Amino acid sequence: MKKKLNVGPILLTGAAGFIGFHVAEALLRDGWQVVGFDALTSYNDPALKKKRLALLKPHKNFTLVKGDLNDHKAFDTLVGEVKPAAILHLAAQAGVRYSILSPQSYVEANVLGSTNVFEAANQHSVPVVYASSSSIYGERGGTFKESDPTDTPASLYAATKKSVEVIAATYNNLYRVPSIGLRYFTVYGPWIRTDLAMFRFARLLLMGNTVPLYAEGKTKRSFTHVSFVVDGTLAALRLLLKDPKGHRLYNLGDERSVPTRDVLYTLAEALGAKPHVLLMPPQQGDVMVTKASSAKAKRDLKLKPGKSIEEGVREFAEWFKKHRAFLLKLSDMHT
Ligand code: NAD
Repeated sequence: MKKKLNVGPILLTGAAGFIGFHVAEALLRDGWQVVGFDALTSYNDPALKKKRLALLKPHKNFTLVKGDLNDHKAFDTLVGEVKPAAILHLAAQAGVRYSILSPQSYVEANVLGSTNVFEAANQHSVPVVYASSSSIYGERGGTFKESDPTDTPASLYAATKKSVEVIAATYNNLYRVPSIGLRYFTVYGPWIRTDLAMFRFARLLLMGNTVPLYAEGKTKRSFTHVSFVVDGTLAALRLLLKDPKGHRLYNLGDERSVPTRDVLYTLAEALGAKPHVLLMPPQQGDVMVTKASSAKAKRDLKLKPGKSIEEGVREFAEWFKKHRAFLLKLSDMHT
């Protein structure tokens, strides 16, 4: 990669998505110009994506380009025109469970789509911050550290996210494209995806329906408030712009690992709902435990601990109740 970097806007892929929306808001607050890029796929009701975009619309420094990463020529042309200071690559086909039903869509969006991002980044000398996932650690005990092996993913989703890390490392080795990969752990907060447990629980609780608890609710997760992930993502971006070299990886996850069952009951209480629970066997692809070490991110990215799960769930319940009419009407396809 040539030495001289651009000083233009941030090109944010997946801007209409859950985390992309929050990252866009934070970038705009920080005074960046943001060019969002999103295909508005039908994984999660597009009405939710349009709602997030409507919230971003009033910001004069935000524009959205609707497009698909798989159209590599169009994406390359866009990067050439926008001349971004960095690409923040969050677009993906997300979700562990759907990767069992539709493996090809994961390879297309995550492997091919991400290759197109790195290819354009190389052509136009742009550094990249991208989203990876805790799922790449697979089924293991203890606390997950960046130096742990990640060669036995438990789902095709995880395999494709691991592939993005390998692609990023390759573009760095071959062409010196600087990048930082962020391994997010079970993110939750306002405007969450409809296929994630916190949303599904809230919907079923408020509708008075039975809540299926897979693995009898004994799975434990580093539930991570979206504000921690946003802070970490912006800090990684600043670090990469200041020191644009190498390929670095950071976990971004809450260091407490909490049983899913506890989250359900805390949420039910906050919503004032009585849970009717059906204990179910584990679901294919789901690991029993995730537990983040975010020590490296805290040290290098100067991150403070995020919101506690108790506080985060209460805030989430308030948000859900406030937007209840809209949220309960969203399609529950893929959930
Ligand atoms: P999301 O599904 O809400 O957002 C992803 C966005 O990417 C969507 O708006 C979708 O329309 C867009 N997209 C998908 N394929 C595309 C394509 N081919 N071209 C252009 N746009 C496309 O997901 P999210 O929860 O916001 O996740 C953001 C990133 O973080 C993803 O890379 C995901 O793998 C990663 N991640 C999320 C979590 C979590 O808990 N939410 C955990 C670990 C990793």
